Amino acid sequence: MSRFLSDNYKSLVPYVPGEQANVKVIKLNTNESPFAPSPKVKEVLSEQVIDNLNRYSDPELKELTAAIANRFGVTPDMVFCGNGSDDVLAFAIMGFCGKGGKLCCPEISYGFYPVYADIFGVELEQIPLKDDFSIDINDYINKGKNIVIANPNAPTGLALSYDDVEKIVSSNPDNLVIMDEAYMAFCGKSCMELVKKYSNLLVTRTFSKSHSLAGLRVGFGIAQKEIIEDLNKLKFSFNPYNLNTLSIKAAAAAIADNEYYDAKIAEIVEIRDKTQKQLEALGFRCTDSKANFIFASSDKIPAAKLYEELRKRNILIRYFKKAKIDNYLRITVGSAEEMQVFTDAVAQIMEENK
Ligand code: PMP
Repeated sequence: MSRFLSDNYKSLVPYVPGEQANVKVIKLNTNESPFAPSPKVKEVLSEQVIDNLNRYSDPELKELTAAIANRFGVTPDMVFCGNGSDDVLAFAIMGFCGKGGKLCCPEISYGFYPVYADIFGVELEQIPLKDDFSIDINDYINKGKNIVIANPNAPTGLALSYDDVEKIVSSNPDNLVIMDEAYMAFCGKSCMELVKKYSNLLVTRTFSKSHSLAGLRVGFGIAQKEIIEDLNKLKFSFNPYNLNTLSIKAAAAAIADNEYYDAKIAEIVEIRDKTQKQLEALGFRCTDSKANFIFASSDKIPAAKLYEELRKRNILIRYFKKAKIDNYLRITVGSAEEMQVFTDAVAQIMEENK
């Protein structure tokens, strides 16, 4: 630590991202897509676009917000884009919860929520899940605090129903409810429709998982226009050019190519379900994950040991050394071939450690 860091930030415990490997590995640790982005993305990244990089990107992100609005049947003034959905979450938690404000989230959930709460001086309540890792919606009814929930939740993969989301949103009219739908494309019924009915709902999404663009860093939020205006006010007070020209073009092309992504998403769901069955046959318990990852545990081998053994074989998955889930592993769904190598390796390790 240098002598210059403000006292405000000395005790920060930063978010720890899954590692990005240099050597050739089977990478099942950060919930990326195993597939390349839509070919349309390559087409729009033309020489002409590159030659124009001497100019700033469009701070209003007109092309991208229009494409997203069109895809989800809302108006462009209901869309806010960020440098990854982390950026959108950061602006929202900073702006709507603020210093001294109150926020709650599930105790086992996306690890960035507590970090954002900490850096922005927000008082965070982390609400325990039920024993089966599901969210008890009664904990969030008439809560009287801002709420952020990942739906499907991470790392459990479990999803709340549309009706349950509506109960939470409608019972907290004076607080913001952020539904983080980073993994919703693999699940089904988004609560996006509800933004037209409720002024206290912000739904966030990302291009990093279903749209094979984690390296591009694009995410977005959808809400009624007053919330979007506030987010833009914050953005224009902090980093007006939060997306670069290449990201804007590429993401706009990607979001318009439903045909390509619908097929890839269906393939990932199929591989997920098949891999899950294979793990269950090896004696694992898996949650009913609706995301692009599996959350699994076995009494036959400690999760930490299996994680290390897979690592030695250049297969990266995610292990969280955290109470209640420290015997679980989160395994991103890769390609069919990668998942076969993974399950074969797991079977072999289990055999060797009997
Ligand atoms: N929400 C959840 C639940 C996530 O798992 C992630 C990915 N780590 C994000 C948001 C952020 O994704 P990105 O910034 O890549 O859009």
